[in-house]
Amino acid sequence: MSREIPKGCAFLTDEVCSERIFAPEDFTEDQKMFAQTAANFMQKEVMPRVEQLENKEFDEMVKVLRKSAEIGLTMIDIPEKYGGLEVDKTTSMIVTENMSTYSGWATTYGAHTGIGLWPLLYFGTEEQKQKWLPKIGSAEVIAAYALTEPGSGSDALAAKTKAELTADEQHFVLNGTKMWITNAGFADLYTVFAQVEGDKFTAFLVEAEREGVNPGEEEEKLGLHGSSTRELQLENVKVPVDNVLGEIGKGHKIAFNILNIGRFKLGVGSLGGAKHTLKLAAEYAQEREQFGRPIAEFGAIRSKLAQMASKLYGLEAMCYRVAGYMDRSLEVLDAEADDYPQQVMKAIEEFAVEDSIMKVVGSEVLDFVADETVQIHGGMGYSAEYAAERIYRDVRINRIFEGTNEINRMLIPGMILKRTMKGELDLFDQIQKVELALSESQKPTPPPQEDDPEMAFEQFVTEQSKKLGVYCANQAIQKHMADLRERQEILIDLADIISQVYAMDSSVARTRQLVDRDGLEATRVQRAATKLVLAEGFETVRQRSERLLYNLADGEELNQHLEAFEKLTFFPRIDVISLWEVVAEAVLERARYPF
Ligand SMILES: Cc1cc2nc3c(=O)[nH]c(=O)nc-3n(C[C@H](O)[C@H](O)[C@H](O)COP(=O)(O)OP(=O)(O)OC[C@H]3O[C@@H](n4cnc5c(N)ncnc54)[C@H](O)[C@@H]3O)c2cc1C
Repeated sequence: MSREIPKGCAFLTDEVCSERIFAPEDFTEDQKMFAQTAANFMQKEVMPRVEQLENKEFDEMVKVLRKSAEIGLTMIDIPEKYGGLEVDKTTSMIVTENMSTYSGWATTYGAHTGIGLWPLLYFGTEEQKQKWLPKIGSAEVIAAYALTEPGSGSDALAAKTKAELTADEQHFVLNGTKMWITNAGFADLYTVFAQVEGDKFTAFLVEAEREGVNPGEEEEKLGLHGSSTRELQLENVKVPVDNVLGEIGKGHKIAFNILNIGRFKLGVGSLGGAKHTLKLAAEYAQEREQFGRPIAEFGAIRSKLAQMASKLYGLEAMCYRVAGYMDRSLEVLDAEADDYPQQVMKAIEEFAVEDSIMKVVGSEVLDFVADETVQIHGGMGYSAEYAAERIYRDVRINRIFEGTNEINRMLIPGMILKRTMKGELDLFDQIQKVELALSESQKPTPPPQEDDPEMAFEQFVTEQSKKLGVYCANQAIQKHMADLRERQEILIDLADIISQVYAMDSSVARTRQLVDRDGLEATRVQRAATKLVLAEGFETVRQRSERLLYNLADGEELNQHLEAFEKLTFFPRIDVISLWEVVAEAVLERARYPF
């Protein structure tokens, strides 16, 4: 079964492997060429300048940004008619991944080509686009996004910056303070959010050269020293009414939609950063000797490398699956239609749940990889002489920006419930099926654990996890109804279950496709990585579900839930240690992410 237009969250209701998903194994020659171009650019132009950039030599950063423009890397999302390349979403994400080997650069480049560009790209008028897009594409104009304020971060709509219409109705006058603005040290154009008439949240395009636009001093940060972050004071800044972006009072649509795709980009950027970090860890493990042997020979180190690689395999499957869905959805749109940009936004919004999942999982996998890379480096991991120290500091921000991981976790079940209520997702049908199956079954007989081309065991574990998640979601809805949105601990546990189910479902589907193509023997390492994704995913699902059920019921009702829990978790566990060995061997053989 393969829908013509892919649906967001379908992984919750469709059976695993019921449709072909897009995966890195499907990259076209063109897409691989973009990956290589971006990787070469990083190696030749960015990495040799890390020290200068870490010392906040931002003139150098601007120079490199313009160099990247010369080979088209800043115009990948910009339509051809404005001088851009307008590649598909998959290619755009491939470039993002390969541009993420140094966080200071990735954040600068990401703000310019992402949150800085997209509001104009998707919500600008034809005149606004003609005026600015070509210059953003060539990096003559550097873009930034100013949403956060001292008093409003997660609660972005509570912004206090004011925009007042002048008496002649030709201008707005902006007053307020924005905070934590990436690229503010050298940006030329800001998307600024402000309240019109007190509460009409609205976006404006504000040129840095306008009187009253005053960036503050560079923030002293834990990491990301190569990325400029400043406060932005707006003092009586007069902007023409033509600089209003989108509609007055509809700024929230811009802010939220841009955050959706920003989260996707952050997930993919985390993948790129983590692959690079794993390479450093694998290389160091092979160089460093203790007790007369390279530390790479010790199981304690090998298991870390294996965990890093298998988590990345899962993340990669999740990310490119969504990229493929987005491209399929965008392909059928009429690019000549007047509302084409809005249709694009809608198609992207369809995957808002997956975007939040990739943001949360991506940032946490990257944190795990950075942390274990420091550990593998021992004392040297704590020394500024090695990149591991900087990476450890740099990556921490990813759990905070683009919506904190707490906010994103709460959004995941929240959006799923909303989709269910609107009839966009058949969760209730799924709940009924699970309840029926449970009432009819005793303990299910699991398929054999040996490897088989159908990957029956892997599919079984994924399906059982899905059922357990659906079962728990139903109990939470039954108990709390509309109040569920106030029960954050429950929402967060549900988010973790859903995220792990998505990781399992995507990894199994990806590997099954590979087995179909290359056979069992050639896919031994991928199958091992997939089972590790399953083992970790199932453990999280099991632990969170049990915790939820104990909270949601007691007495006889709890006993009934625990009976269901037993049925759904009754199958042989996975021999994780043997699988670590298979994946670690592959990591060390290539001294990098092995897939
Ligand atoms: C280096 C850096 C670069 C940045 N770049 C930009 C940029 O370019 N443009 C821009 O506009 N912003 C930018 N930001 C701002 C960033 O997006 C915010 O920091 C982020 O949204 C969190 O807001 P906050 O810092 O006000 O934290 P708060 O919102 O105060 O959150 C504090 C804690 O409370 C939790 N919390 C908040 N609300 C809730 C709730 N309802 N329920 C449960 N927990 C809650 C949060 O999860 C967090 O753990 C940047 C920040 C940094 C540090």
